Amino acid sequence: MKLDVNVLRYLSKDDFRVLTAVELGMRNHEIVPAELVTRIADLKHGGTYKVLKNLLKYKLLHHDSSKYDGFRLTYLGYDFLAIKTLVNRGVFTGVGRQIGVGKESDIFEVAQEDGTILAMKLHRLGRTSFRAVKNKRDYLRHRSSFSWLYLSRLAALKEFAFMKALQEHDFPVPKAIDCNRHCVIMSLVPGYPMVQVKELQNPETIFEKIIGIVVRLAEHGLIHCDFNEFNIMIDDEEKITMIDFPQMVSVSHQNAQMYFDRDIECIFKFFRKRFNMTFREDRDETEVEVDENSRPSFYDISKDANALDRDLEASGFTKKEQNHLDRFIEGGQEKSKDSDENEESDDEEQTCESNEEENLNEMTSLELQGKEQNNSDGAELDDTEKGESS
Ligand code: ADP
Ligand code: MG
Repeated sequence: MKLDVNVLRYLSKDDFRVLTAVELGMRNHEIVPAELVTRIADLKHGGTYKVLKNLLKYKLLHHDSSKYDGFRLTYLGYDFLAIKTLVNRGVFTGVGRQIGVGKESDIFEVAQEDGTILAMKLHRLGRTSFRAVKNKRDYLRHRSSFSWLYLSRLAALKEFAFMKALQEHDFPVPKAIDCNRHCVIMSLVPGYPMVQVKELQNPETIFEKIIGIVVRLAEHGLIHCDFNEFNIMIDDEEKITMIDFPQMVSVSHQNAQMYFDRDIECIFKFFRKRFNMTFREDRDETEVEVDENSRPSFYDISKDANALDRDLEASGFTKKEQNHLDRFIEGGQEKSKDSDENEESDDEEQTCESNEEENLNEMTSLELQGKEQNNSDGAELDDTEKGESS
């Protein structure tokens, strides 16, 4: 998705006020009736219609007149609300080039006042394919309570919370800076994803380090669940950083062992293929004298399922939100380009693109039960200029 932040400069206070009004309206309406937008925005000098037209022009809103005249936010509109909030908070001053396209995210560089470059991850849950297809049935059954925007916001919140907690326990992760809506701001990791690395000075050392991280995570009660060459960054000094945490689960999860083994298997497979490493299991047992490179056993690790719980709770990511998110994204895994790249057909991809459209249309959601988004990170109209507002 193109994120033309120049548009930001052309948007007035009224534009943002109306955009925010639509976001607020979406708590209770899939499509927010035009007159409700007008009422919530309550522009000092009127003229909501003209503002709406402007927002449509920049594709920040989608117009729907199938049942009545109404509007909903597009992902771009949601992006702008998050970016604007973070800029207002002084977290960064400008958005730069796109540096990554994940399966369910877009990553951009952002610059701070002093020139420091950070990474901004915009979550786009359900954008792609296989998870969505796999979960479609489940999703539809629960559609009254979930939406893509809501889930993307939860994914960001979870990622931010986990990044912070992991950092506090000295795991090699980016520094978590801030979070708003579906957007996470973190330090920029130098280097590249392992998948781009063709050669290593010390593949054995790196391998051991990486396996060591998976084991230590389990000791702290967690499994990454998507631990592979796409989510491990490495720099020129061969320093490792792990990224991408929205799918992590606890070691007390019913499928914990399977997820753990799968993470380990990904690493073994990658190092075998890419760096021609051989492991104990690849050889005739009788030839091996020392117990080298054998797989860690989930069973043998002494796991503290609660080790990180307190930190996570402190970060504001609740158990309930965790459950919502898990139900949706659990078990998803990034595909290894080496192996099963073409498993998803174009057809499937297509289905899912339209799923997104369809599901964005079903934005009844934003957790209508009421409470959601009532946090400081959600929509709030800036009334500093207006005095009291309805
Ligand atoms: P997804 O969940 O969509 O897979 P990731 O968090 O894995 O998203 O990010 C996708 C890509 O963006 C990564 O493979 C990496 O190249 C880049 N990236 C993500 N976070 C950072 C960061 N903090 N610094 C530098 N590059 C990053
Ligand atoms: Mg990733």
